[in-house]
Amino acid sequence: MQNAAETAETLAGNIRSAGLKATSQRAAVLGALQREPHSSADKVLASVRAELPGISAQAVYGILSAFTEAGLARRVEPAGSPALYESRVGDNHHHLVCIRCGAIKDVDCVIGQAPCLTPSDDSGFTVLAAEVTFSGICSTCAKQADSSAR
Ligand SMILES: [Zn+2]
Ligand SMILES: [Zn+2]
Repeated sequence: MQNAAETAETLAGNIRSAGLKATSQRAAVLGALQREPHSSADKVLASVRAELPGISAQAVYGILSAFTEAGLARRVEPAGSPALYESRVGDNHHHLVCIRCGAIKDVDCVIGQAPCLTPSDDSGFTVLAAEVTFSGICSTCAKQADSSAR
């Protein structure tokens, strides 16, 4: 386990290496994303407020979009769900989304190969990334459906 001071230093370092100024608000947002990946902006806000009670919603939303632009966070938008943010970036990973409860899980891509999918017709595009969302029923929901059927 890292201690709190080391964690804060790591967060600040990550923010600086993305070319942004490391502030305590930004560090709190990044910390929240690392603790709870695939959080909606409102969930991030609630989690950051536990640490910095005075922070405004605008400030958190602004930081999330600055992080997304700087490549420090990734925005995922599963169908029927609000946009979700995560701090796992740059590996072109994919997502499994449960259509019942909205649970979301990371799925690794073939390492070192982005894009991992080749379109049958690229229409002349140079493809840089491919994002796949697998939707289905998570194991928890499947078990619930099983037991209620009995
Ligand atoms: Zn589910
Ligand atoms: Zn993810």
